[in-house]
Amino acid sequence: MTRRFDESKLVIASHNDGKVREIRDLLSPYLITLTSAGALGLPEPEETGTTFAENAALKAHASAASSRLPALADDSGFSVAALDGAPGIHAARFAEREDGTRDFEWAMERLHEASKDADNNLAWFTCALALAWPDGHTEIFEGRITGALIWPPRGDRGFGYDPIFVAAGETETFGEVSPEAKHAISHRAIAFQKMIEACFADSDG
Ligand code: IMP
Repeated sequence: MTRRFDESKLVIASHNDGKVREIRDLLSPYLITLTSAGALGLPEPEETGTTFAENAALKAHASAASSRLPALADDSGFSVAALDGAPGIHAARFAEREDGTRDFEWAMERLHEASKDADNNLAWFTCALALAWPDGHTEIFEGRITGALIWPPRGDRGFGYDPIFVAAGETETFGEVSPEAKHAISHRAIAFQKMIEACFADSDG
């Protein structure tokens, strides 16, 4: 049975500022004191899973175990149909330079180069959320949004691959739209909606 979230504190199990900001926004209607793995100086576990869900669970467990607080992890990524779904779960690593810094302009350019001659520009973002309690119980929720990889990149809002993604039916990239517009439709928002309904929403409606 799904476990409801009745706690007052939650650790966002991420060191990614863009994600932490979006998760804070999405949880703002709920009276929960939020902190993050980055702010607490918790170690970043290696993402050894083979799916978004496995990696999200691994990160949430690591933060819950070391903080003794419930923790919420997001594992997400960008997939390009013409590249058989790559970089997918390796989206963050795909942007990593040899010195360990992340360079998304370079990563976007490589994705464009590798896929520009394909007969379609279908792409999608996936998000798996794992909500883990210190006793090991975990709930997982997933969201996906499909659209197109466009070139050149547009917009300096958002983070990661946002400037080259236009959601189906839209005209602006995720890098151009307001945070509110992104939160209305994004892969992360879809996964959040599922989590809120299952674990946070009032049971009487
Ligand atoms: P991870 O979940 O920490 O493995 O990293 C996911 C990576 O996917 C991020 O570093 C971004 O590159 C990319 N990504 C995930 N969600 C988004 C998004 O909403 N916009 C843009 N890029 C994203």
